Amino acid sequence: MASRVYFIKARVSDGEKVISEKAKRLFEAGQFAQYFKRNDFTAVKVHVGEESNTTYVKAPCLQGLVDALVALKTKPFVTDTSTLYTGRRHNAVDHTILATERGFSVEGLGIPFIAPDGLYGTAETAVPIEGELDQEVLIAADIVRCQSILSVAHVTGHCAACVGATIKTLGMGCSTRKGKMRQHAALKPKVKRGRCTRCGECYRHCAAEAITLDEVQAHIDQDKCVGCAECVAVCRFDAVTYDWQQENEVLQKSVAEHALGVMQGKAGRAAFFNFAVSVTRDCDCFGQADLPQIVDDIGILASADPVAVDQAAIDLVEAAGGRSVPDLIGNRRLDWRHQIEHAVKIGLGSAEYELIEVS
Ligand code: SF4
Ligand code: SF4
Repeated sequence: MASRVYFIKARVSDGEKVISEKAKRLFEAGQFAQYFKRNDFTAVKVHVGEESNTTYVKAPCLQGLVDALVALKTKPFVTDTSTLYTGRRHNAVDHTILATERGFSVEGLGIPFIAPDGLYGTAETAVPIEGELDQEVLIAADIVRCQSILSVAHVTGHCAACVGATIKTLGMGCSTRKGKMRQHAALKPKVKRGRCTRCGECYRHCAAEAITLDEVQAHIDQDKCVGCAECVAVCRFDAVTYDWQQENEVLQKSVAEHALGVMQGKAGRAAFFNFAVSVTRDCDCFGQADLPQIVDDIGILASADPVAVDQAAIDLVEAAGGRSVPDLIGNRRLDWRHQIEHAVKIGLGSAEYELIEVS
């Protein structure tokens, strides 16, 4: 059966206040209030944008949605997990400071930013799923414990997943460091030349005994490494890194399976918003200002179905650009169909949708 996807035209040039009002109009048109109950801890999943990135969805654009949740007497909090890579979202302290600077805070939105995966990105819950790759996924503990989710995704291209929208926001964005590592399972960390101080912390934490120390630096045995990400978590010198080139089909399937884990126990307790404005070739993890857009601003989409809202967003982007997303981002090795088709196969949602335009 086709899922309902609500859509309203919007442009960055409308201004943040108008965008916020339009998002709230979608919330009302889709009757999303039914998914949130009084006293729920409601995770408002956001991406605060890597430092120097200027094209992420700005905090004031979410004020209308936050106000709607507060009016329902839920206990909403803005949230995002620690990243695998280095930067200002690498741990809860730096991430919270960046979020606060950007208004994702009590001062900005009237609700707190809370990292759901703890200080190191390791506070996790193993969630059983019926997946093809995994029977259990590692999700941020407080994402599992909260009662409801309002997901805010920025629709962009992506260097590994082809498209980043709701499925990726849930799967990658709500999993812990180990969960993210599992999604990047073909990747094994390496130690950067010149960064390692030989502190030995990774060596002491590696349960697989994959790490050795010579007189210059630590080394990771790629055959012994099981991709657990402990070394990434404990290294305080940003010395552990990855090769981001990976076979994208496996990654996309794993992202969809982690998204399924996020949604376990939250059927009928979530709403998914895709902001298709400032649709850039790369995602908000890129710390660059004014990343080039691949299409003109389109608008905001919302649905109770995380797959339908992504399929609708992709269709609108491709219609606006007159080409496929791989063409628009200049990487024909990637194909977004892997994540959509796998998400449908494992029961995350439906790719069939009815688009309902709201004025
Ligand atoms: S924790 Fe980091 S700095 Fe310390 S030995 Fe390992 S890689 Fe080097
Ligand atoms: S990812 Fe885990 S197994 Fe691999 S080197 Fe790091 S700590 Fe060891």
